[in-house]
Amino acid sequence: MRIVIKIGTSTLTHKTGRINIRRVEELCKVISDMKNAGNEVILVSSGAIGMGVGKLNMHEKPQDIPTKQAAAAIGQCELMYLYDKQFMNYNHTIAQILLTGRDIDDPISNENFHNTMNRLLELDVMPIINENDTVATDEISVGDNDTLGAIVAKTAEADLLVLLSDIDGLYTADPRDNEDAQLLDLVFSITPEIEKLAGTKGSELATGGMVTKLNAAKIVMEAGIDMIITNGTKPSNLYHIMDGEKIGTRFIGRKNA
Ligand code: GLU
Repeated sequence: MRIVIKIGTSTLTHKTGRINIRRVEELCKVISDMKNAGNEVILVSSGAIGMGVGKLNMHEKPQDIPTKQAAAAIGQCELMYLYDKQFMNYNHTIAQILLTGRDIDDPISNENFHNTMNRLLELDVMPIINENDTVATDEISVGDNDTLGAIVAKTAEADLLVLLSDIDGLYTADPRDNEDAQLLDLVFSITPEIEKLAGTKGSELATGGMVTKLNAAKIVMEAGIDMIITNGTKPSNLYHIMDGEKIGTRFIGRKNA
């Protein structure tokens, strides 16, 4: 299987913005094992701004663009250093790809991105992709990594997109303040009723929420690719997915796409 896994800031870091070492170690171990089992894995990883904020001891996400971009420049470095160290333990080589919306919209850049990603996979190297936050402004940015994950999954013609979140999946109500909220196992299309279930809340350092996840679902479902939202706080959920067990919320891609 060719799988794109999107890892959110809340999965990688503590609320302080500092790295959640135990989580990252577990996650890299499971992903390495998925690769050892013969799967092709592409990561879309957030965390650049969050880790930059942590490293600068800022305690909260800056609001102005230059500071955000500076935090991203600092944090992206830290992020890749961390992944390189972890994946090296299991003999896996990684590569960094940074993109903006403009690169995706430009046919030549997009084709280069596509070719590089394919060649990396042929070389058995795992691409780790993030938005190029140091140059992206509103006009040219994708804006969130759920959407970027969906674009990558579509470009890579992946079999599956997995969004690792701080929540188990899509619920009938916000489970943080509603005890009766039920987890939806399967979603076949993004109807207005489903869209209504997406609150707007995410964690403090994160960018996305359920709205961006449903947006990602629309993109990949249309392309015939399944998507799963599952809880990244339990990296072993990835094993359950590989074993074909029911976990999180699965969005079923259009079969005749
Ligand atoms: N590109 C941002 C970062 O690395 C995250 C965007 C997102 O999480 O959606 O901090």
